[in-house]
Order: sequence, then structure tokens, then C-alpha cells
Amino acid sequence: MENCVYAKKCGGCAYQGVEYKKQLKRKKKWVADLLKPYCEVERIVGMEDPYHYRHKVHAAFGHVKGKGIVAGVYKEGTHHIVDIDSCQIENEKADAIIRDIKGLMGSFKIKAYDEDKGFGLLRHVLVRCGYHTKEYMVVLVLADPILPSKNNFVKALRKLHPEISTVVININDKRTGMVLGERNITIYGKGYIEDELCGRRFRISPSSFYQVNPEQTEILYREALDMAELKGRERIVDAYCGTGTIGIIAAEKVKEVIGVELNKDAVRDALNNARMNQVKNISFYSQDAGKFLCALADQKETVDVVIMDPPRSGSSEEFLNAVTTLMPEKVLYISCNPETLARDLKYLTAKGYRAKKAVAFDLFPFAGHVESCVLLERVSNRKADSYVKLNVKMEDYYRIKDAEKKTDE
Ligand code: SAH
Repeated sequence: MENCVYAKKCGGCAYQGVEYKKQLKRKKKWVADLLKPYCEVERIVGMEDPYHYRHKVHAAFGHVKGKGIVAGVYKEGTHHIVDIDSCQIENEKADAIIRDIKGLMGSFKIKAYDEDKGFGLLRHVLVRCGYHTKEYMVVLVLADPILPSKNNFVKALRKLHPEISTVVININDKRTGMVLGERNITIYGKGYIEDELCGRRFRISPSSFYQVNPEQTEILYREALDMAELKGRERIVDAYCGTGTIGIIAAEKVKEVIGVELNKDAVRDALNNARMNQVKNISFYSQDAGKFLCALADQKETVDVVIMDPPRSGSSEEFLNAVTTLMPEKVLYISCNPETLARDLKYLTAKGYRAKKAVAFDLFPFAGHVESCVLLERVSNRKADSYVKLNVKMEDYYRIKDAEKKTDE
């Protein structure tokens, strides 16, 4: 494929102009160098076709004197919008939807928002699409809840793109760098889309976390769970569980899953996802993962496997310390940042764990990120001597903690 014409201005692709095979080699070396003290990296799993993989596409809208409406990304480190018509890594239909929204704005008299003056209506457009379901969600981020002739606008847009299954207005009237505000108003369809991952169905709401590259995510989750060699009797924790994807996929392979996630909306989605997939051996808790794990350790609960998938900043010392108190037989660490992964491995390998296997996955071709998965095994048997399983039901425990929290506030 030709080099991207926007590359210099956009700056979104760290590996622009680098042959894909070379990108993979460099990313693997990056992870391997960082993990060298702990474990060898077996391989990196790349994509057969590394283009147009992003299923979440965002465009900032603005107005430029003499040029009119612009829609695209902020030039790196600035607030100038680079006008982009299409992108090599974004879903092509999503790009077309954004182009057509831009085209329709004039006849519907919709003004793009002006950040400096705080004037205008349309700030951002977010398009999310299901990889298997091909459902499309359009989120119009507006500075004001009123979109003139909204029904006709949706009609005109759906005439061009019948694949759009839902349209949501998100209101962001704050002068912040955040794309989405807190309020959503569904103006067409259900207000969310669904997608499938590893044979399970998941709901994607405007703001819920869902991996941007579902094709590679399926490969990552399958291989990660294979690495854990689950036997069916385990009680596992899915920490930083988001909308419950990993835990729900793992549920049929284990006895019980406990998911923990900070974001309350994500937990709501997770509960819904479990119900939708008729997964019954799973429960979700909305708490800081570190605090939750500490509480489990305090209660002398038994956990066989901890699966952790923290954000880029990695895990916390509190969390890692609780892992080394709970002493699960295995820890499966899925990471989107090899730097913090290496930091956390240093901690775990100093306190009773051995990194047994590591594989890197390219979920972000052309971009400067890489995903990794490491399986750690317990080497010392401290836990077997010092812990006795207490028969506390998690639901009871949660209610107690919840009540405590309420009285604290
Ligand atoms: N496992 C999920 C989500 C991974 S993204 C998936 O694959 O889809 C990381 C998640 O960690 C986000 O959902 C974020 O909200 C959550 N998170 C961030 N800090 C957290 C914390 N301190 N405790 C619990 N969850 C946290």
C-alpha cells in the first residue's frame, strides 16, 4: 500500500513507511528486550492484512477560515485538526460515514464547534462497528442537546449508510480534552451495538471499553486462555475486566469467575453480557482491583488463577502485593504496555513467581503499541501451609463491604 498522505501532519502511526514484517520484528525485539530478565518471548502474532483494522473511529470536527468544516485528528501535541478523508488503519465504512456527515452538515445547517470561541454544535463523531455483526453505531458529540431536524438528518445519513443500526447524541458542554460527555440520548435504534468475540456476544455502549482490533483480540484471548491450561475446577479472578469479555469467554473452562472493574458503566455492561450469554458462574464487582484483591486476601479466600489486563499504567503495588498473598497457582498477565509489564514482572518474579511463557500480539499495526501475554506460575508453596479456605460467599462479602462503604461516605 502507498504511504499515507496525512502521515507527516497526523503523527498517529509511529511505523508509517516501515514494511509490516519489519514492524513486527521491531515490536518483538522491544518486548523481548524488556522481558529478557524474566522470560523469553516465543513469537509475535501479526496480522495477515494489517490495514483498516480499527473498529472504533474518532474524528474531531472544527472550522477553518477559508476552508470550511474540517474533520479528522488533532495534530500531535496541538489542538489543530488535520482534515482527514480516509485512514489506512481505520474501518473504511466508518471513514465513509464520517465523510458523509461532514457533507450533510451544510444542508442541515449544523455548525462545527469552535474550541476557541466556544461556539457551534458538532464537536466530534465517533463510529464503532461490530467485526462479526457489521452493526454500526454513530455517536454525535454535541455542545448542546438540540440537533436541528434530527430525524431528517438520521434519515439522510441512513439512506447513504443503511448499515448504521443506532445513532446516539452525546452531550459534551465542557471545555475539556475529553471526547465524550456524560449524557447520551439515543435518537435512532437501541443506543448500543453488539459484537461477537470467541463465540460470545458483547454489548458495546458509546463509552464502554472494547478492544479496537477485534480480529486480533479473538486470537489473543484464545491463545491466552490456552496458555493458562485451565482444567475446569478453578476459581479465577478476571481483574480489570472491563465489560467482562475475558471472564465470560473463560467461564465455560472453569468453576467460577470473579470479575473486578473500576468503571461502573463497564460493570453494568458486564452483568448484561453475562446474562445475554447465559453464563451463570460469574460475578462482577465494581471496585479498585488492588483494594478488591487485598480484601480477598484478608478474607483468606482461595483463588487458583488471576487473569489481569490492566491499563497502560500497569498494575499497582497494592494489587501485586495482594497477588503474592493470595498466591494463586497461576497469573495470566495481558498487557498493552511492555514497559509497565516488565516493571510488574520484576515484582512478581521476586516474590514467588516464575514467568513461564510470553507471546506478543500486534493489535495495533503501524501504531507504536504492542500487546503481550505472559503466563506466570507459582514456585513456592507458601500458600498451601498458611491458608485455609473459608466458606464466605462472595455475594455476602460484597454486601458487607458495600454497606461499609456507604457508612464511610
Ligand atoms: N479486560 C478488558 C478491559 C481491559 S482495559 C478487555 O479486554 O476488554 C483495562 C480496564 O481496567 C478498563 O476497563 C479500566 O476501566 C479498568 N481499570 C483501570 N484502573 C482500574 C483499577 N484501579 N481497578 C479496576 N479496574 C481498573
